[in-house]
Amino acid sequence: MLRYFKSLFPSLTKRSRDRERDRVRSVSMGEVEESGEMKSSERRVGIIYDEKMCKHNTPDGDYHPENPNRIRVIWNKLLANNIPQRCVVLNGKKAEDKHVMAVHSKNHVNLIRNISSKEFDSRRDGIASKLNSIYFNEGSSEAAYLAAGSVLEVVERVAKGDLNSGVAIVRPPGHHAECNEAMGFCLFNNVAVAASFLLDERPELGVKKILIVDWDVHHGNGTQKMFWNDSRVLFFSVHRHEFGSFYPGTDDGFYTMIGEGPGTGYNINVPWEHARCGDADYLAVWDHILIPVAKKFDPDMIIVSAGFDAALGDPLGGCHLTPYGYSVMLKKLMDFAQGKIVLALEGGYNLESIANSFLACMKVLLEDKPVSGSVEAYPFESTWRVIQAVRKKLSAYWPALADEIPLKLTSQNTSPLHVLIPSSDSEDEGTKAPNIVSENMLTAVQEVMEPFSKLKVEDSRDLLATSSTPWRSELSKIDIWYASFGSNMWKPRFLCYIEGGQVDGMKKACSGSMDRNPPKEISWKIFPHRLFFGRDSTRTWGPGGVAFLHPESSVNEKTYLCLYRITLEQFNDVLLQENVSSYNMNSPVFDLAALKAITKKGSLSLEIFRRGWYHNVVYLGNERDIPILTMTCEISDIESFKRGEFPMRPPPTEYVHTLVKGLVEGGQLSEEEAIAYIEEASSKPLC
Ligand SMILES: [Zn+2]
Repeated sequence: MLRYFKSLFPSLTKRSRDRERDRVRSVSMGEVEESGEMKSSERRVGIIYDEKMCKHNTPDGDYHPENPNRIRVIWNKLLANNIPQRCVVLNGKKAEDKHVMAVHSKNHVNLIRNISSKEFDSRRDGIASKLNSIYFNEGSSEAAYLAAGSVLEVVERVAKGDLNSGVAIVRPPGHHAECNEAMGFCLFNNVAVAASFLLDERPELGVKKILIVDWDVHHGNGTQKMFWNDSRVLFFSVHRHEFGSFYPGTDDGFYTMIGEGPGTGYNINVPWEHARCGDADYLAVWDHILIPVAKKFDPDMIIVSAGFDAALGDPLGGCHLTPYGYSVMLKKLMDFAQGKIVLALEGGYNLESIANSFLACMKVLLEDKPVSGSVEAYPFESTWRVIQAVRKKLSAYWPALADEIPLKLTSQNTSPLHVLIPSSDSEDEGTKAPNIVSENMLTAVQEVMEPFSKLKVEDSRDLLATSSTPWRSELSKIDIWYASFGSNMWKPRFLCYIEGGQVDGMKKACSGSMDRNPPKEISWKIFPHRLFFGRDSTRTWGPGGVAFLHPESSVNEKTYLCLYRITLEQFNDVLLQENVSSYNMNSPVFDLAALKAITKKGSLSLEIFRRGWYHNVVYLGNERDIPILTMTCEISDIESFKRGEFPMRPPPTEYVHTLVKGLVEGGQLSEEEAIAYIEEASSKPLC
């Protein structure tokens, strides 16, 4: 079976590493002692933080987004706002093996128990490197047991009624950890250990039904699998999915995954189609999916897999939730299970964002006055599409989801709807390199923000000051011609790269450009370059080759190219979508300097996309003083095609159909001529 070894995190630059280190002061636990005393007028809210969980770190001390400062900043922020002083502060507690083994295999538990011991000193790095996005050091075992045990401790105390609600500020996170595998920074599945403990070990506490709400920006694949057949646990996850291209990179997080056997209908996924979802999108999902289902399910307890990597400013998440958004999401859950809610920290990598978001949640649990803020944006059109798909899929199990959503809600969207979705011609599961996304994310680890035009939230002003992307406004003033010789010759197909969406035959949606304005002009031209078809297959079009343009010209060749006049900003977004599926860019991959260089050099291979099939940008001259750029393979790839290392292959029927439509609707050729043109290009040897 193909495994996507997509990396959940990139390594960071030294500069950002140093900055992170300088930012956070280590705080000792001694500032607040364990206490049982608090004002009787307030709700009893438990809180666990244990500095020992900070000992889990990268073996060489290199910067990593999942680092000890994450929990320190949260604790500092709460201290500075007198929160622990108003809570029941509990000491961290290690989980017992038998409780961890309720959801993990014996092998896995043995590995995590022993990984930090001396005997593993020489093997530790090797073992980590075979896992997906995992590191280990001497502190990992203890931290893993503390994280799982601490969530269990809070959950048990809330179930007993000692506490009204509680939070566990723990790391390593847990929701990616599967029965027999650590992955995605997660060693033990903390939330799953706690939930299964209540259900199986402490039935006398009366918790028979647990709602797990996973609002981390990534799918909680581990938790889903652990309760897949179990109707006692309703697992709800809202996450970026992008048709399986966002971490963890499988179809597990799609809305069609609803559980099995007695658990059918008790697994709900809300898969975002793109980044940038914010308060309005999440609250729409709450109102139209989660809350109606929770009413019917009537949980005895709610455990939130509380990742804060969907927060505005998160370097990995690319979403726009604000502290206000989190507070409203949590407040709406307080109406259930008599407010018995436990938050367990999962992801979240912008230190300011996670601290502010966590604080907002604490204020809700303590029933402080509401966090200020407002939602002035509408959900994305894609959000309504996803909500409706989820409701339709689950309405047989949750009749409240069967009603139509009022049209006035769904018609408030602003972006146009395309009905189809694949990404580029070049995506290929068979040859896709495991770390494409992480390479791209190297550029994306700092604040990835578009101008914050849609929401106005007072609490986030300070965040926004550091989070703009000035390159976009600069490059939006420069026009280029993007020249297409493949399926993008068909305008509706190309528009998916600008406006987002998908067209007939495509299995995946495009995320589109940040700038959704259509091309200013469209023109056609014939170039003296060789068109040919190769590679094995694509997810979008199935088995068969896709179009490439020989990067060098040759007098005997003739290829039709459709020229779209777009901005250099949009070109960057197109480049990205042609080569990788993730959509985080805080700096351009093809900037003004690149544009200048390419007019002299003729072509420029983009190192960051070097595993993409179309990472070579080729300059084809000017049209009315505007440079014409296309993207294709490199000269060295041509040699690989000639040697047979890359297969030459005729295009699949549906792909041909799209090319022919492009040429015919573009007024270049008749249908018969277009078919003959493609046939010739796909049968002629490459010389
Ligand atoms: Zn996450």
